[in-house]
Order: sequence, then C-alpha cells, then structure tokens
Amino acid sequence: MIQLKAPEEIEIMRKASVIVAEVLAELRAMVRPGVTTEDLDRMAEELTRKKGAVPAFKGYEVANRVFPASLCVSINDEVVHGIPSAYRVLREGDIVGLDFGVRYQGFYGDAAITVPVGKVSAAATELMKTTRDALQAAIEEVRPGRRIGDVSAAIQATAERNKFAIVREFVGHGIGRRLHEDPQVPNFGQADRGIRLREGIVLAIEPMLTAGGPEVRVKEDGWTAVTSDGSLSAHFEHSVAVVQGGPYVLSLL
Ligand code: MG
Repeated sequence: MIQLKAPEEIEIMRKASVIVAEVLAELRAMVRPGVTTEDLDRMAEELTRKKGAVPAFKGYEVANRVFPASLCVSINDEVVHGIPSAYRVLREGDIVGLDFGVRYQGFYGDAAITVPVGKVSAAATELMKTTRDALQAAIEEVRPGRRIGDVSAAIQATAERNKFAIVREFVGHGIGRRLHEDPQVPNFGQADRGIRLREGIVLAIEPMLTAGGPEVRVKEDGWTAVTSDGSLSAHFEHSVAVVQGGPYVLSLL
C-alpha cells in the first residue's frame, strides 16, 4: 500500500535527504587512492550522528542477514550493497558507488552517487554520465498524473540509447517512515503503465547500469552484488517527491 505524505512530512523528509546529500558530498571529497572503504563508512556514521540523524543501513535486515555498516561502498564490478572493510583500498582508476541513507525525526532519506578515483577510463566516465542522465530523465517524469511506467521507461530509453545494460534484480522504491515502501520503481518498463503518480508519493529512484551484460550475482558475503561478467557498474539515486509544479528532489543540496 502506498503511504501518501503530507506537505509537512515531505519537509521532514527533505531535511533527512539533505543530511544524506551533505554526507555524500563530504565522502566524495574524501575519495582518492589509498583511502579504505572503512574510512568512508566511519566518516559517514560520524557526520550523520553529529547532524542528529541515524544511519539507516546499519543493522538493516533482509531474510535474517544484517547489513553490518552505515554505508554501502561498491567498487567497479560491484553493483550495490558492498560492505566496507579496512582491507579494501581505493585505487587510481576505480569507480566507487556510495549509497547512503539516514533516519531523521521518524523519516528516511536515501541517495547514491558513483565517483571516480583519480583518473578513470573514458568508458567508465561514459557509464557514470549515462547512469546520472538516466536518473535525471526519470526525475523529469515525477509529476502528478504521470505513471511509474513513465519513470521506468525514461531510465530504459537513456540506457539503451547509450548501449548500456540495465540491472533488473534491484529496483527503486517508495520511501517514508520506512526505508523501503511501495511502490517498486523498476529501472525498465513501458510508458503509460503502472500506478499513477499523485501528490504525496515519494520515490527513491536508483538506476544501476553496466558496461557489459545485465546479469548479477551476490557474493559469498551475502550482500555484495557484482556483475556476472565482471563488467563495470554505476549507480545513482535520489529521493524525489511528487508535488504540484514538478519534481521535488529532496536529496539535492
Ligand atoms: Mg534506495
């Protein structure tokens, strides 16, 4: 069931999402060769608690598996849900996905970016740009009267036009008093299908594209999703409210 948010609830979600965006901006500035993914995780948690919020992913449970960290850090062929580690060091040429969420005054915010480490390949840059463009095209569809299929189709069209594959196993989601709410927001689909968007719906839209095939598998740690063919993957996410007058991107600074 879709939980509609009142305007004052959306404003609390805006504050939660700004905290997410501020933390991601700090982490982006930290990204360089030699930094460990645990360094990023520790900074994310510290900054969040200083701002009076709680990291949303730490302790998050799916089918009896508990996510052990505040930040998901997914490098190169890792698509999403990478677990930070003191032994995982960023290297020149990597691309690193940072996915972060917080709870603040009873509401969640969720966003993700993919960041180059030093100088990266032209192919990696193109993949990141297309994934960001796909998210932007999807955000343009977040208006009263449009449908979920319009959002999904915008992502698919952007990916296919640029010859990148779409990961289908993971989807965007509604967000609010819970991190994951209805409706699901697939990263592929047909325009003019699915539920109709109306004021008060808030969506976390999160395209994941790869430079190879669309297939993914989950590693032995039970969390980290990687591309089956080892190809690069990028992920961008924003929390976006449906309001009169156009998309309201809550996680934009
Ligand atoms: Mg999300």
